[in-house]
Formats: sequence, C-alpha cells, structure tokens
Amino acid sequence: MRIACVGGGPAGLYLATLLKGRDPGHEITVLERNPAGVTYGWGVVFWDDLLEGLAANDPPTAATIAGEAFRWTGQRILVDGQPEAGLDGYGFSMRRQRLLDILTSRALELGVEVRFEAEVEDPAQLEDHDLVVAADGVNSRLRRAHPGSFGTRIDTGRNRYMWLGTTKVFDAFTFAFVRTPAGWIWCHAYGFDATASTFIVECSPETWAGLGFGQLGLEASIARLEELFAPQLDEHRLVAQGPDRERAPWLSFRTVTNERWRSGNLVLAGDAAHTTHFTIGSGTKLAIEDAIGLAAALGAGDDLGSALAAYERDRKVALLLLQREARNSAGWFEHLPRYIDRGASQFAALLQHRRSRLLTRMSPTGYYRLRRTSEEFAAFDRLWHWASSRRREREVRRGSRG
Ligand SMILES: Cc1cc2nc3c(=O)[nH]c(=O)nc-3n(C[C@H](O)[C@H](O)[C@H](O)COP(=O)(O)OP(=O)(O)OC[C@H]3O[C@@H](n4cnc5c(N)ncnc54)[C@H](O)[C@@H]3O)c2cc1C
Repeated sequence: MRIACVGGGPAGLYLATLLKGRDPGHEITVLERNPAGVTYGWGVVFWDDLLEGLAANDPPTAATIAGEAFRWTGQRILVDGQPEAGLDGYGFSMRRQRLLDILTSRALELGVEVRFEAEVEDPAQLEDHDLVVAADGVNSRLRRAHPGSFGTRIDTGRNRYMWLGTTKVFDAFTFAFVRTPAGWIWCHAYGFDATASTFIVECSPETWAGLGFGQLGLEASIARLEELFAPQLDEHRLVAQGPDRERAPWLSFRTVTNERWRSGNLVLAGDAAHTTHFTIGSGTKLAIEDAIGLAAALGAGDDLGSALAAYERDRKVALLLLQREARNSAGWFEHLPRYIDRGASQFAALLQHRRSRLLTRMSPTGYYRLRRTSEEFAAFDRLWHWASSRRREREVRRGSRG
C-alpha cells in the first residue's frame, strides 16, 4: 500500500512505524510541516499504561522511551494561605521534542520516509495514495478541507492557559494556586528531564482580564507570572515558545470530537479526531493508541473500508470514559471557587477526584465525607461513572451500525 501520514506528531510517526514494521512492502511517507527539531509545547506526562502499550507493539521504541523517561513522584498541592497537602503516586514525563525524535529515528530505521518542511496544503496533492491519514493535530487542515464529512464539533473551554517551561526541576507533580485580587491563578508543573519542567498556567477569563493580561505583551506577561509564582520558581525563569516574540501565547482549550472519522480513503487519528483536556494528560497516549488500533485494523486482512470502519468504531468506544473524565476535569478547574476554600486535605482529595461525575452533582463537602468514610460510596462513584459510559458505548455501537 502507498500510505501518507500527514503530521509528524506521535499519531503519524507511530502509525508509520507500526505499519512499516509489520509489512516492509508498504510505501509510507510522513509529511511534517515543521523543520526537523521544531515542535510546540514542553514536556508531556504519561503512565505505565502507555509504556505497556508501546512494549506490546514495538519493543525498541518502548525500551528507549522507558529508559529515558523522567519519573516524578507524588503530587504537591500548594494553596495560598493553607498548609501544603500531598498525594501519593508517580508518573513519567518526557520533553515532547525528545519523544518525537525517538519516534522519528525508529520510523526512519524501518524505512519510512519522513519529510520535514512538507506542509500539505490540499489533500488533492495526495490522491495517488491508497490511504491518507490526517494526523495533523487539533487544527487539522485535512479535516477542515472536508467540511461536512466528519461532523466535527469543537467546544472551547472557558479558562485561559499558557503552556510554559522553566529551568526549575519539579520532582513531584505540583499544583500551586495563588490568590490575587482578581481571583485565583494556578500552575500545573512537573519536571520532564534533568534540566527543565513544564509549567502550565491557568485561570478564569475574569482573572485573566483583571490581572491585565489582555494588555500585556509576552515579556510583561512572563514577568507578571514570575512575580505571582516566585515562591514556587525559586528564582528560575519562565520561558515561552514559538516564533511570536511579541504576543503571549494564551489559549482556551478546544475539545474536538468527530461523528465520523473517515471519508473515502482519508482517516483521522490523534488530535485531529479527538482531544481530551490537558488536565488528564492523555492526548499523547490516545494518539499512540489510535495508531495501534489503526495498524491492527489494517492488518486484519479486510478491505480498506471495513478496516477503517472497525478502527473508527473500536477507538470511539475506547475513548468514551476518558472523554467524559476530561470534560469533568476541565469543568472542575473552571469551577475552582466551588472547591478551593475547604482546607488543605479536603481540597487535595477533591482535586484528586476531579474526574468524577458525581462530584459535579453533589455538594463537595458531602462528596468528600462520603468518599472518605464509605467504601460503598466510593464503589458506587466508580460504578455510576462506568455505567454511564457503557450507556454511551451502546449508543455509539448502535450509531455505527445504523
Ligand atoms: C497544554 C497542553 C498540555 C498537554 N500535556 C499533555 C501531557 O502531559 N500528556 C499527554 O499525553 N498529552 C498532553 N497534551 C496533548 C498532546 O500534546 C496531544 O494530544 C498529542 O500531541 C497529539 O498527537 P498528534 O500526533 O495527534 O498531534 P500533534 O502532536 O499535534 O502533531 C501534529 C503534527 O502535524 C503537523 N501538521 C499540522 N498541519 C500540517 C499540515 N497541513 N501538513 C503537514 N504537517 C502538519 C504539526 O506540525 C504537528 O507536528 C497536552 C496538550 C496541551 C495543549
């Protein structure tokens, strides 16, 4: 088969690797608009389940990523005026650019052609391919070139955020909430190698406006944030990325869903197909899992149409729970004042349970007390969450048959 993967992010690169690894006869090209070594964002977090998925599908990639991953331990929750709270657990992280370099090297090693500075302007450029994979991210140009084919829905979150880096290395996943006269502003910070950390700043639009960020350029915004987060930064600097050195890269998160993931021989993967809010740290894992699912469907021996249909159905179902959790988690941060003034340990527990649907329906203190004291309630919370996802799952399956 002649296959074009548009986008050299995790979805496009890993899919190319898997398909070429399974059938060296495929002619596969990854087309990436950026020059080699250039990407957006800082480090990404992931957990054992991603490493397990990689190990089951391409052990060399898994070994390199596992060998180089930064391991962070525990969570620190710092709220102005309250004692520090901590939560157990651990996870991994890696500089996004390093992850892409590892995936690119492996794809090249297997014989994939990876072309940088190769922006696809029009899908018609690729009509001599048997399969075109739109792995071109949240703003997918290929998806937008077929309006109406995919039933795309984009929901824009209320909060403003900026994805920054810093040279301070946070060993634990750190949330720091700072009270200002204009409202709360907070960071999500974690180390991703021995020299740097991700530092995402988030706040409500009211706080953003009240702190004057609408009028501040990049340099002044960074200086203001360094002041606000001085106790956490220990004199380290914050760093923004991107070619625009004037404007601060504040964004509102966009949750993308698509009713259909395929149109003829064009299929969506990764962020082009779906996004999940960054507060659950799963977008990279889901992009990789799309690649695994699509490679498996294409390898099953069915005709292309049936393989793409199976991929779409299975991945939509697999995503349901996480998509719901991501919405709840994003909403939790959008309603921060509902949770924050409740004392350190209650707040930390509510933060930990931010994916729960029940928490959005109950008084936070009632939820906290029941969750802490009743095993049955905790089980019910999990079960209710699971059952509502199963209901959606049945709807998706019915929809894909109809
Ligand atoms: C603030 C923030 C924090 C995040 N943190 C995490 C985290 O901690 N853990 C995690 O798992 N996920 C995280 N994510 C999500 C994660 O970054 C994405 O879900 C993941 O990168 C999706 O992979 P992808 O391959 O689908 O798309 P991308 O990684 O976006 O790759 C798409 C590629 O396509 C290229 N491209 C676009 N258009 C074209 C074109 N027309 N022609 C050629 N190339 C094109 C782009 O340059 C890009 O390289 C975060 C996201 C945000 C916004």
